[in-house]
Order: sequence, then structure tokens, then C-alpha cells
Amino acid sequence: MPELPEVETIRSRLAPGLTGRKLERVEILDPRLTRPEPPELVAAALEGERVADVRRRGKYLVVVFESGRHLLVHLRMTGNVLHPAPEGRKDDPHVRAVVRLDDTSDVVYRDVRRFGTWDLLEPGELEGYFAARRLGVEPLGRAFTAASLGRSLAGRKAPVKAALLDQRAAAGIGNIYADEALWYARIHPLTPAGQLDDEQVAALRAGVRKALQLGIRRQGATLRDYRSSDGSEGRMQHEFRVYGRADEPCERCGTPIAKTRVAGRGTWYCPACQPSELGSVA
Ligand SMILES: [Zn+2]
Repeated sequence: MPELPEVETIRSRLAPGLTGRKLERVEILDPRLTRPEPPELVAAALEGERVADVRRRGKYLVVVFESGRHLLVHLRMTGNVLHPAPEGRKDDPHVRAVVRLDDTSDVVYRDVRRFGTWDLLEPGELEGYFAARRLGVEPLGRAFTAASLGRSLAGRKAPVKAALLDQRAAAGIGNIYADEALWYARIHPLTPAGQLDDEQVAALRAGVRKALQLGIRRQGATLRDYRSSDGSEGRMQHEFRVYGRADEPCERCGTPIAKTRVAGRGTWYCPACQPSELGSVA
């Protein structure tokens, strides 16, 4: 599932080709994409819009139009936006939308599992949309401080990993980068979020940023489906410290990496570097 670094990689590759272009023709082939809005209405509303910028907020791609409207694209499990359109797309059953630009190139939205969404917002609706979803601050932005992270975790009994996944403390972190961040911070993923002391909160903030920045530098992680907008693979999967590495030695101490489940998600950690706070209490 694409997380912040994967979405940022797609955004940065899409932006130069889309910015300044007008959407000449929009075909939405899968009604699930725009639900509950009828796809033909959204397609008609998009035609004629000119792209002012392509931004990102958390895991959302935000296409900004000169009209002040925004198209929010959430890729969920397997969505991707491809430009230029790949060869052989006419026979590709997973293409869910095609946008013809005024330079005659096509942008293709592809999604195998079909959980991705397109939401077209009218001018002025963007902040309310994110607020309604309790989307936290950008973890690579200035607002993500140890103090802000501490405030959003305070009093919470949920495991710290679950707190990172729910997007309220910071937007854009998913299963991979949560595990990596907790390893950098030397925090056990099941530690109740509200139990972290100031030093651990500061370490967690630093760990989140380190994991995400490395992910962006490596153009994301390619596991199964993820590709960038030009079809290229990321390289972050070669840099994982714990994610998916059960029984392999921890890079820091040599202890075999352990696997557990937190919030229903496979979770990897080093039992020596990330000791259980619960264990010391029991
Ligand atoms: Zn270790």
C-alpha cells in the first residue's frame, strides 16, 4: 500500500507533465472510483479544468486546478497514476480512468484491487475535508514537533504503532514506515502511546522523519504492485531495518528480528533494541 514516500514519488514525477495542462477528455470506467457521485458527472465536471499544481497531503495526491477546485486521489491498496500512459493499456483490465490532456498525452489511473478513490472538491472545501477525517500534520513539515507529537499521543492507551497508523498524530505513515520509525526510535510497537516519556517522543519524531526521508530518497518501496508514475520501481525495500525481515539479524545488535501483530497488521521489531515496556511491568 503506498505510503507518504510512495505517493510523494508519484507526485514529483507527475507534476512537471501535468502542471499547466488542460483536461480535454475524462473517462471514468469504474463507478467505485467516485462513489457516491456518478462517474459521468465527475468526468464532465473535470473536463476543461486546467492543472495549476500537483501536491500531496498525507497519502492523498491533490490536483489543484486554476478554478480553485481540487481533485483528491487516494491510491489505497494498489492505485497508481501513470503518465505517460504505458504501452498495452488498451488490453489492461485494471485501467479505471483515462484523462486526455491538451498536449494529446493520456494520464491513466490503474487499480487492481479497486479501493482507490477520486473526490472532486469545490473551491474552499479542502481544509474541511481533511479536518473531517482528522488528518494530522505533515510529518516532514515544521508543524510536526516533539511537542505536537507528544500532545497527540498523550493519554492514549492504544499501542504506539496503532496511533501512528490512524493518521491523527501525523499524516501519511502506514505499516512499513511505522515499523521502520519505531526501530530507529528503539520503541516497542505495543507500548501504549500515552506512556512514552519526552525522550522517547523526541526519538519517535526523529525516527518517523528519518524513515520517511529515506523512503523518498529511494523513490519508495516496491512490494508487489507499487510503481512510480513512469512505471519505475522504488528501491526502499533494500533499506528495510525490520519490515518483512523476520529472523534476520538486527543491523544494530544482531538479535533476530521478531514478528507480531498490532492493530491487525503484521509488525516487525527487534526484541533487544525495542524492549517491551509491558514486560518490565509484569
Ligand atoms: Zn537490535
